[in-house]
Amino acid sequence: MQIKSRIRTIAHYPHEGIMFRDITTLLKDPVGLRATIQEITNRYKKLEIDKVAGIESRGFIIGTPVAYELGLGFVPIRKKGKLPAETRGRDYQLEYGSDRIEIHVDAIQKGDRVLLVDDLIATGGTAEAAAALIQEMGGEVVECCFVIDLPDVGGRLRLENQGLKVFALCDFE
Ligand code: 5GP
Repeated sequence: MQIKSRIRTIAHYPHEGIMFRDITTLLKDPVGLRATIQEITNRYKKLEIDKVAGIESRGFIIGTPVAYELGLGFVPIRKKGKLPAETRGRDYQLEYGSDRIEIHVDAIQKGDRVLLVDDLIATGGTAEAAAALIQEMGGEVVECCFVIDLPDVGGRLRLENQGLKVFALCDFE
């Protein structure tokens, strides 16, 4: 509850009918921020991991301190056109239309064991595309880690059906 109780819900953002789970209230709270990073790092500190990859933009906020605590480097997976060097990208479907995420081609080495981090999983489309990019580059996705899972939307099952492991600190209906 240290974590879930600090997440705020904003009704009808960014669209009518959406209940947006807002982690800024968790991040601004020193107990909440520490508990979030510690719970994640405790889970992974005994596992063999080479890199942490975070999905833009809230995945950067969570993923970077996790990488730091684990003594690892951090790799950003960004929206289209944001990374300066040569990239590899992947398109994925949104509720309306599509989007594209990209990663630097030299970010992952063959055989790297990668922890993938984002703040929330809903449909799983974003994380599925990110995991596929890592795998295409020869990396192994050790687990996909989120602060929040929305189990009713089905993203966890979608990733698990692809053979990916999924962990979340809390669920919201
Ligand atoms: P998915 O691809 O799983 O449908 O959507 C997950 C992505 O959308 C994540 O990158 C996440 O940051 C963002 N997202 C979707 N809904 C929410 C929400 O209610 N709260 C937050 N914090 N992020 C959301």
